Amino acid sequence: MRIEKNAPLDRRSSFRSGGKADILLLPQNVYELTLALRGMEDKRVYGLLSNTLVSDNGVRGKIALTVNVRGMERTGNVITACCGDTLSGLANFALENSLAGAEFCYGIPGTVGGGVFMNAGAYGGEIKDILKSAVLFSPSGEIVTLENKDLGFAYRKSLLQRERYILLKATFELEPGKKTAIRAKMKDLMARRREKQPLEFPSCGSVFKRPEGHFAGALIEQCGLKGARVGGAEVSQKHAGFIINAGGATTADMLALTALVKRTVKEKTGVELEEEIRILGET
Ligand SMILES: Cc1cc2nc3c(=O)[nH]c(=O)nc-3n(C[C@H](O)[C@H](O)[C@H](O)COP(=O)(O)OP(=O)(O)OC[C@H]3O[C@@H](n4cnc5c(N)ncnc54)[C@H](O)[C@@H]3O)c2cc1C
Repeated sequence: MRIEKNAPLDRRSSFRSGGKADILLLPQNVYELTLALRGMEDKRVYGLLSNTLVSDNGVRGKIALTVNVRGMERTGNVITACCGDTLSGLANFALENSLAGAEFCYGIPGTVGGGVFMNAGAYGGEIKDILKSAVLFSPSGEIVTLENKDLGFAYRKSLLQRERYILLKATFELEPGKKTAIRAKMKDLMARRREKQPLEFPSCGSVFKRPEGHFAGALIEQCGLKGARVGGAEVSQKHAGFIINAGGATTADMLALTALVKRTVKEKTGVELEEEIRILGET
């Protein structure tokens, strides 16, 4: 297993901010990840940090990143992926195997582990729609397999958030499809992302969950907050649901702007926004 001390996390986090981890564990496969977990008191496991802001003060103790824990297999209509496989990689693998249903994963810049934890979704699809079962490291240190129905999925929610289960592997049940149609859908979804999202800047994606009956971006825009700034953090002009790192933003900038947006939206519309992004380390 690769171990880095005093490891800078800003270059690994998709918002490009934050301090260093005292000890960064980079397991190379599922076995090494389970060994790492057995040696961690506080089992902090992350993927591509695409939904996570890292504290400017860094992270004390150990954290593990799963980015090298990869490898997919196909049996019939079922794909088994490791926690560090990317969601775009899953969509591409499904395409190669003429399997439809995972197209919505294409362009979500995270891992399978982060995707299952968040029940990630886009353009009408969610992980819960295709996940068959999950192999997990349980809070009591056992390796267990849970079926979809036992994983507590709801909008951007899963059992993994409530209890400290760590995803090791996941199986996805897809349907036979035509490569041309699958590829066309993936291309279309990526074009829609490029058109609507500020992909040219670092960000954590949508900062807030979709409030019932509303769209966070529309509420933020309606409150005149497009372009609002704190330090280098800016409410995207292209998509008000995103806060971008417009240059040199710290995590503190991003959190201060998030708080300002929440406060203003609450005052002006009465809607309470809830963060989708997660925070790693003490802020
Ligand atoms: C430009 C952009 C666009 C985005 N678009 C979308 C979108 O369309 N839809 C969407 O849902 N999200 C979107 N996101 C957010 C993000 O990509 C997803 O939430 C993704 O699933 C996070 O994966 P990750 O590996 O980066 O997770 P991380 O940020 O590394 O971790 C997120 C959470 O998952 C937990 N976690 C990670 N791996 C594991 C594991 N193996 N076991 C248990 N817990 C784990 C972490 O502890 C953490 O709490 C976007 C982000 C960006 C930057």
